[in-house]
Amino acid sequence: MRRHAESAGLNDVVIVNTCAVTKEAERQARQAIRKLRHEKPQAKIIVTGCAAQIDPDSWAAMPETDILLGNEDKLQPASWQDLAQGQLPAKQVSDIMQVREVASHLTGSFEDHTRGFLQVQQGCDHRCTFCIIPFGRGPSRSSSIADVVANVRNMVAAGTKEIVLSGVDITSWGQDIENRPRLGVLVQEILRGVPELPRLRLSSLDPAEPDHALMEVLASEARLMPHLHLSVQHGDDMILKRMKRRHLARDVMRFCEEARRRRRDVVFGADIIAGFPTEDDAAHQASCQLIREADLVHLHIFGFSARQGTPAAQMPQIEKSVIKRRVADLRALGEEQLEGHLHTRIGGHDMLLLETGGRGHLSGFEKAVLALKGHQAGQKQRYQPGQLIAVTLQSVRGDAIEVVPLLARSA
Ligand code: SF4
Repeated sequence: MRRHAESAGLNDVVIVNTCAVTKEAERQARQAIRKLRHEKPQAKIIVTGCAAQIDPDSWAAMPETDILLGNEDKLQPASWQDLAQGQLPAKQVSDIMQVREVASHLTGSFEDHTRGFLQVQQGCDHRCTFCIIPFGRGPSRSSSIADVVANVRNMVAAGTKEIVLSGVDITSWGQDIENRPRLGVLVQEILRGVPELPRLRLSSLDPAEPDHALMEVLASEARLMPHLHLSVQHGDDMILKRMKRRHLARDVMRFCEEARRRRRDVVFGADIIAGFPTEDDAAHQASCQLIREADLVHLHIFGFSARQGTPAAQMPQIEKSVIKRRVADLRALGEEQLEGHLHTRIGGHDMLLLETGGRGHLSGFEKAVLALKGHQAGQKQRYQPGQLIAVTLQSVRGDAIEVVPLLARSA
C-alpha cells in the first residue's frame, strides 16, 4: 500500500489497516483513527483492512474517515492513482468472495533487513464458527511456486536472512494449483531453488492435515527452522467440534509426536482460545492438559470474542469474568512452559540471528540477548543486525536466553 501510494505521488495520507479478529482490535482501530484525525487535521485518512471490508458502512460513517477502501481494492495500483487524481469514490469495496488471485507483486515485506514475511496464500475456505476472517479475506488462493521462489530470491538478494512464509491458512496452500501440491513441496522447492537462503520459518499450521512432504523436509533440512506454530484453539474435543475445527486433541498429539520423531529439537507454538461458548471447567482443563502433554511452548492465548454474524455468537456465552480468569490461567501456564523450555536449552549451541540492540531469535524462536562481558564488551560494534552468529546458550533471563558468541567465548 505504501509503495502504491508513493508511486501515485500521494503524500499526507494516513492508511489505517483495520483488524476484525476481535472486538478489542476493532475498538483500538476506531480509537487510532480518532487520534490520527486530531494529530493530523490536514491528512487524508484512508481506512481499509478486514474490519472495513466486513462492515464498510459503519467505518465509512465515522466523520474522521475520508476514504474507505476494500481489502482487494487496497492492493490495486489503480485505486491509489484514482485517489491521487481525486477520482476515487469515498467508499470503494469490491466483493472479496469473488477474488481468485493473490496480488503476488505485493507479497514480500521487510522488517529491517533481518526477517522478511512472504505471503504465499490468502483467504480461507473453512468456516470455524468463531471466525470472521474469511469474510474479510475471501476464498483461499495460493501464489505459484515460481512466484514464491522468485520473491524469496529477491528478498535474499536484498539482505533478508530469514523468511517467514505467511498467509491466513498456509496449510491450504496449493489446493487451487494444478496437482494440488502440499505446503511441504513449496518448502522443498524454496530451499532447493534458493540455496543462499539461510533460514526459512513457517507461520501458523493446521494440525488437521498431515503433510508428509513437510515432515520429510523438516527432518532433512536444517535451514527450515525447528519451530512450528499450530492453530490448536482448544484441547476439548466437544469444543473443537462446536468450533467446527477439523481436528481433535489426539490429532495435535499425533502431529507433535511425528514432528518430534523427525526433528528432535522442534519447538511448538499454538493459538488457544479461552472461554468459547459452553466451555466448562473440565473443558478448560483439557486445554491446559493438551498444552502440557504436547509440550506447547510459545502460546498465543485469546479470550473468546463474539463476532457478529458468526455461529458462535449465537451459542450460550461464558461470563466475561470467567473468560478473563481462564485467559490469565492459560497465560500463566504459557509462561511456565516457556521458562521450562528455556532452561532445557542452557549449555547448548545455536545460531542467533541478530536484530537490533544485541537481541535476536534462536532457531526455535526463543528470544536471545547477546551478553558481551569483560574484554568482549568492547567488541559490540562487531555485531550488527542481520548477522547470524554461533552462540552458546548461557542462562535464562526473564523470557529470553542470555547467549555468548562461540568464538569470543573461546578467545
Ligand atoms: S481456518 Fe483459520 S482463518 Fe479459516 S475460518 Fe478457521 S480460524 Fe478462521
